[in-house]
Amino acid sequence: MGQTANQTLDINVPKVRREKIPEAEASDLRAEIKDLLKRRKALLVAHYYTDEEIQILAENTGGVVSDSLEMARFGHRSEAKVLVVAGVRFMGETAKILNPEKTVLMPEIEANCSLDLGCPPDKFQALCNEHSDRTVVVYANTSVAVKAKADWMVTSGSAVDVISYLRDKGEKILWAPDKYLGDYVQKKTGADMLMWNGSCVVHEEFKARELQNMRRLKPHAAVIAHPESPAGVLCQADYVGSTTGLIDFVKRTEAEEIIVATDKGIFRKMELVGAGKKIIAAPTAGESATCRSCAECPWMAMNSLIGLRNILRNLEPQITVSKDLAESALLPISRLLDFAESRRQVVFGNNDA
Ligand code: 13P
Ligand code: SF4
Repeated sequence: MGQTANQTLDINVPKVRREKIPEAEASDLRAEIKDLLKRRKALLVAHYYTDEEIQILAENTGGVVSDSLEMARFGHRSEAKVLVVAGVRFMGETAKILNPEKTVLMPEIEANCSLDLGCPPDKFQALCNEHSDRTVVVYANTSVAVKAKADWMVTSGSAVDVISYLRDKGEKILWAPDKYLGDYVQKKTGADMLMWNGSCVVHEEFKARELQNMRRLKPHAAVIAHPESPAGVLCQADYVGSTTGLIDFVKRTEAEEIIVATDKGIFRKMELVGAGKKIIAAPTAGESATCRSCAECPWMAMNSLIGLRNILRNLEPQITVSKDLAESALLPISRLLDFAESRRQVVFGNNDA
C-alpha cells in the first residue's frame, strides 16, 4: 500500500557546467591541492559522481571515493582534522554530524540535491504532524533539519532491510523524499508507506521506452539501475542497487556490455573494475525526451579543482550544523548504523536496495 502525500515542488535546476582548464594550469592546481591537503592535515572524501580529476586526487592522497555514508564513515575513522567533502550538501552535513570535532569543508557549498531541495523542513513537519501515527523514515538525501524530524535514516543500500524490519513490527511508514525509491521499496516489502512526492532530477530522466529499444538492439547487454530511477526503468533492470552495489555488479557480471542508469561520473570506476566490459549510458532522450541534466548531476558537477584549491587555501566557508539539530539528526543516523552493525551489513554499499 503506497500513496503520495503532496504536490511535486518546482526545483530550480542549474545547468551542468564543468570548468575547462588548460593542462598546464590543471597540473599546477593538482600540485597545490596535494600540498595544501598535507599542510592542512586534510583528507579528500569524494562521491563517485564527481569529476574524474577530483576522484583521482582523492585516491592519490589517502582519501576515498565512495557512496555517501561510507564517505562520512571514512572521515569518522580517520585521524584527519579537516575533511573536504566533494559531493553535495547533505554529504557535508552528514560528515559534520558524525564528526562534530572536525572541520568539514566543501569545494562548492552551493552544491545541493533536488531531493533535499524538494523537501522543505516546514512542509515536511506539517505532514509529520498530520500523520503522527506513522514511523518517519527519511532517505540520506535530505537536509539536517528534515533528518532531525525522523525516526530512521536509510540509504539506497539499506532501505529494503529497514522497511522490512519496520513492517514486521507492524509499523506504518511516512517516507520522504524520493517517491521512486519509496515505490521500489514498497513493492519489495509490501509495507504501508505514505510517500513524499520528491524525485532526483537526474535519475527521473531515464526513459523506459527508449531503454526497451536499446535492449532490443543489444539483447546480450545487462541493465543496471540506481533505485532513484522510475519504475518503468527499474522493472527492466537485471540489478538495482546503490552506487557501490552497481560497481560491484559490473565487476562480477559475465555480461560484456552493461547499460547503466545512473550519473555518468560513476563510469570511471566501472571501467576500472570492468576489465574491458563496455559501459553504456541508459537513454535519457528520445521520443519522450525532457532531458535537463542528461545523466549528469548538475550539483555534483559544481565540484571543481579551483573550488577545491580555494577552500583549502581559505578553510572557509565551513559546514556548520547547530548543536540542537545535530543531536536530533544523529538519532536516525545512529539507528541505521546500529541496525546495520547488528545485521553485519554494509550500509551504503554492497547489498541490493
Ligand atoms: P548512493 O548513496 O547510492 O551513492 O547515492 C547517492 C546519490 O545521491 C544517488 O543519486
Ligand atoms: Fe541528488 Fe540526484 Fe544529484 Fe544524487 S544525482 S545528488 S539524488 S540530484
